[in-house]
Amino acid sequence: MAARTAVLVIDMLKDFIEEGAVLEVPKGREIIPNIKRLTDEARSKGALVIYVCDSHDPNDPEFSKWPPHAVEGTSGAEVVDPIKPQKGDVVVKKLKYDGFLGTTLDLILRSRKIGAVILTGVLTNICVLYTASTASMLGYDVAIPRDCVASTSDEEHEWALHHMKDILGIKIINLREALASL
Ligand SMILES: [Zn+2]
Repeated sequence: MAARTAVLVIDMLKDFIEEGAVLEVPKGREIIPNIKRLTDEARSKGALVIYVCDSHDPNDPEFSKWPPHAVEGTSGAEVVDPIKPQKGDVVVKKLKYDGFLGTTLDLILRSRKIGAVILTGVLTNICVLYTASTASMLGYDVAIPRDCVASTSDEEHEWALHHMKDILGIKIINLREALASL
């Protein structure tokens, strides 16, 4: 690999992924096996796995736009069981769509000399998009396996992938290519 790579897992939390969840993304369940394969492979190759997770205060202003979700300390704020963080992984809590905004994510990546990130998780057109945008503008080499991200509709998913490729210069790849790049 050209640069040290990290795999980011964004918002794969019970409040987004579980059946009947408050902000359910049904297609988010379909990408769990792919994210599991990618994170397992990353760990075995010594690549860092970073979970970037919504973690809200009960009175977060975001709840004027969305119903309360991922409230810190509740089970809804936990990563879904099959892909729980493991020893050696890093968990970054975020308040906004952008995983870099007001968090230690950039510092964690820089201090480990990581220049490339592979983004996975939900939603393709919201938190993945905003995090990918900042990663790209900060100079990281960004790749997104299209079968490791999901949204509530195919239209929004495809629009965001297209936008990230055309406007941000992000590499849109698939799981196989992501595995090969580790
Ligand atoms: Zn949120």
